[in-house]
Amino acid sequence: MAIREIRLSIDEILRKKSREITEINDKILTLLDDMAETMYSANGVGLAAPQVGILRRAVVIDVGNGLIELINPVIVEKRGSQINDEACLSIPGKSGAVERPEYVKAEALNRNGEKIVIEAEGLLAVALCHETEHLDGILFIDNIIDEETDEEE
Ligand code: ZN
Repeated sequence: MAIREIRLSIDEILRKKSREITEINDKILTLLDDMAETMYSANGVGLAAPQVGILRRAVVIDVGNGLIELINPVIVEKRGSQINDEACLSIPGKSGAVERPEYVKAEALNRNGEKIVIEAEGLLAVALCHETEHLDGILFIDNIIDEETDEEE
């Protein structure tokens, strides 16, 4: 495993659309391992592959209940609404309020290529939306409804 460099929002790669993963090979498994290590070392709760410079549809999330690895995640259902301050490892020092669904249901593949379904509320629902948007080149700053700068990490 290795920690990879986190791309910052000035990097155009973060605005590109990531490609679907058609084969879960060693390269993809290493990518998932490295993404988790990179996320934990940066004290993040989520990381998407384009944030480490790879335009593939993979995300890792850990909101405190264990690591979730998602390949080709798609949000298939949303309900309700919640507003929370969000931040992003690619945009250090910035946070702002974003409105998200309170509940989301997502489908993806796990590292064994098995289809998984995740139903989430609260912070996990936020993380699923935030990370999945990274795969389409969308950043949380595009959705901010109330901007503020936070000098702390
Ligand atoms: Zn982010």
